[in-house]
This record gives sequence, structure tokens and C-alpha cells, in this order.
Amino acid sequence: MKNRKLLYEGKAKILYEGPEPGTIIQFFKDDATAFDNKKHATLEGKGVLNNRISEHIMVSLDSVGIPTHFIKRLNMREQLVKKCEIIPLEVVVRNIFAGQLSKRLGIEEGTPLRRSIVEFYYKDDALGDPLVSEEHITAMNWAMPHEIDEMMALSLRINDFLSGLFRGLGITLVDFKLEYGRNFENDIMRILLADEISPDSCRLWDMKTNEKLDKDRFRRDLGGVTEAYQEVARRLGIMPENTPANHAGPVLVSDN
Ligand code: UDP
Repeated sequence: MKNRKLLYEGKAKILYEGPEPGTIIQFFKDDATAFDNKKHATLEGKGVLNNRISEHIMVSLDSVGIPTHFIKRLNMREQLVKKCEIIPLEVVVRNIFAGQLSKRLGIEEGTPLRRSIVEFYYKDDALGDPLVSEEHITAMNWAMPHEIDEMMALSLRINDFLSGLFRGLGITLVDFKLEYGRNFENDIMRILLADEISPDSCRLWDMKTNEKLDKDRFRRDLGGVTEAYQEVARRLGIMPENTPANHAGPVLVSDN
């Protein structure tokens, strides 16, 4: 595996050519970035946790009929996925006002939305991932109308499923970001859920304390980032055996 070909290095992951045609290896790094890369840190063990958490979520989604790129986890930091042509959009689903939406509309974080909403952002770091409408997406040929419909429908199904899954663990799913890709098999094109779903890409609040168990701990300098991710893994029942030593076990993080 030493001489494998590097395909792409992103902020939190590296993609290598997979062992068979049509496959890719996704390597989870410990790096965390925010605010267009202006903030950067290495959080020991984050990659291992996200690999496990994303595996668990992708497998669960697959079991309820959501088509995903996930094939299998290879080791602590890597998973094998189906190669796909990534649609250059970040699809954000929101249940509660937070983050950019709170800022944009001036509504306090934590205010519930009357209904879940799906937003699209054009994936372009140099432009700061701008919010775009269906009109922009079709005019720019980033995706076809039927692909937008499919991403909307899948995203809402994923939201229903994940909201219930996290609710059962005492966690509110506030919002999250998805990415989709086109997969071509036997000349048939299918839209697959791609990338990862982890506390890096979701807002997860403890239902009792409202404590943040996600990347906002890093963005907002709240501390205890890896401990929060460990807590999510623990509640999902998947604490990896060999996570970098934290012999005290997972600790609940506090805001001060
Ligand atoms: N998100 C993400 N990657 C991005 C932007 C957002 O994973 O490049 C996630 C983020 O973690 C949150 C949701 O998408 O769960 C909505 O983020 P928002 O638009 O509020 O932006 P933020 O406040 O995170 O900059």
C-alpha cells in the first residue's frame, strides 16, 4: 500500500487510488480547520473517531436504503469507498437556527425552525462556499434539476433517520452538511451520498445540557473537542479500542 497514488488532499482527509478500479481510499487526518483555513489545529485522535463515526452512520443509512459511497472500513484511519464524481455542492440540512443561518437572518441560535430546510452552497474555498439557489445550480450546470430533486429528497430522508438516531442517544441534530457524487456502474448513473458524516460536519447538542458535541467546540475555542467526539462515539456504542490513550475515559465537556 506504500506506493499508492495520491488523488487529492483536503483539509481533513486524503484520497488515494483504491486497490480495484472504481474504488478510492479515504484517509481521515487529525487536522481541523475553520474560517476558510485561517484557523488550524491538529487534534490527536480526531481522524480515528471520525472514521468510526462516519462508518457507523453510513452503514446505518445504507440499511434503510440510502445509497452511499461507503464500502468498508479498512483500518483505524481509512475506509474504502466507491469512486464518484463529486457534485460541487455542500447540501446543508437545518432543524434549528445556528451558525451562518442565525447570523444571516438575525435569529438567536437554538430557535427551532418551523420545518426542516435544505440549502445548497457552491463548493469553492476561494469564494468562501457561497449560498446558491436551484437557479444558480442549473444555470451553472453544477447539477441537473432531477439531481437537485434527488439530493433534496435524500437529504430529508437522511435528516429524519439521523434526527431519530441521535434523539435516542440524548442528542439534538441541529444541522449538518452532506456531499453527493455521481457513480457510474454499467453505464447507469446513480447519485450516492459521499464524503463523511461526523461531528466535523454536524451540529450536535446534548439534549439535557445543550452542551456542544461537535466542531463548534473548535471553531469557538470551547476546548474539549476530542472528548466531545469521543462522547458521541461512546453514545453510538462504537468507542474505538485503540483511541489515543485517555485512560480517564470519555469526559463530559463543559462550556467553561
Ligand atoms: N458545515 C460543514 N462544512 C462547511 C460548512 C458547514 O461541515 O464547509 C456544516 C457545519 O458543521 C454545520 C452545518 O454545516 O453543521 C451548517 O453550517 P453553517 O452554514 O451554519 O456554517 P458555519 O457556521 O459552520 O460556518
